[in-house]
Amino acid sequence: MTPKAENQARFGVAPDAMVFARGVRKSYGPLEVLKGIDATVPAGSVACIIGPSGSGKSTFLRCINHLEQLSGGILLVDGEFVGYDLRDGKLYEVKNSLLCKRRADIGMVFQSFNLFSHMTVMENLIEAPLRVRGMPVGEARAKAEILLARVGLSDKAARYPRELSGGQQQRVAIARALAMNPKVLLFDEPTSALDPELVGEVLQVMRDLAASGMTMVVVTHEIGFAREVGDQLIFMDQGVIVERGVPREMIANPQSPRTREFLSRVL
Ligand code: ADP
Ligand code: MG
Repeated sequence: MTPKAENQARFGVAPDAMVFARGVRKSYGPLEVLKGIDATVPAGSVACIIGPSGSGKSTFLRCINHLEQLSGGILLVDGEFVGYDLRDGKLYEVKNSLLCKRRADIGMVFQSFNLFSHMTVMENLIEAPLRVRGMPVGEARAKAEILLARVGLSDKAARYPRELSGGQQQRVAIARALAMNPKVLLFDEPTSALDPELVGEVLQVMRDLAASGMTMVVVTHEIGFAREVGDQLIFMDQGVIVERGVPREMIANPQSPRTREFLSRVL
């Protein structure tokens, strides 16, 4: 059995689970931010996470992306422990070098774009493939061109981020994440910083990505997107998952008063 299959068998993880969280806890000192999160995101599916500010949504994404050490529970991405390895029935912290390698397989798109401002769009796209993957520059450029075409920005390769609109910058950020061939793409409120008229072009790129089979975890307040594109909808509040379900059903008929109250505010 491969280590991945062993982990999956041991914890009863579905073979197609890209992200598997069970009882995930995270505290900052006395502040308990995640109080036991259970979630499974099958490969090729889209999970949307909604919830009020401070409920722990970003922290959960940061845990999936190896940016936080868990305070408890288990979290597997593609069958591998986040931050740990299991050997002889014991968990060992993984070395920093391995952590970086695993992080490289997980794409993240932030609210604030986070492009390298002193680099052109093309340089932004090839930076990580060259440095982290050691890809030959010709190959990295060719791939970047394909990705820019995919997000509708073929004519912007030589531009700097400040020369682009917020919507264009966010599409570059998505292309940059894709340049690493991620197993899963995490989005943290990707349209929250955009002027309303620029939200649609970013959601369209995300819709196309979902249709292409990308596994995505999307924290968003765009309920229409969640209903249309999401395979599951998760409502978090105060560090717990209050409710989850099929987006269309949950939005039409929320079971928890807290979900109902939150939806009535964002719809
Ligand atoms: P959300 O994304 O749902 O708005 P966050 O995950 O950002 O929520 O934050 C959840 C809680 O954790 C908040 O109370 C926040 O202040 C706290 N928090 C987040 N990151 C840190 C940190 N690095 N140190 C201390 N507290 C933090
Ligand atoms: Mg957040």
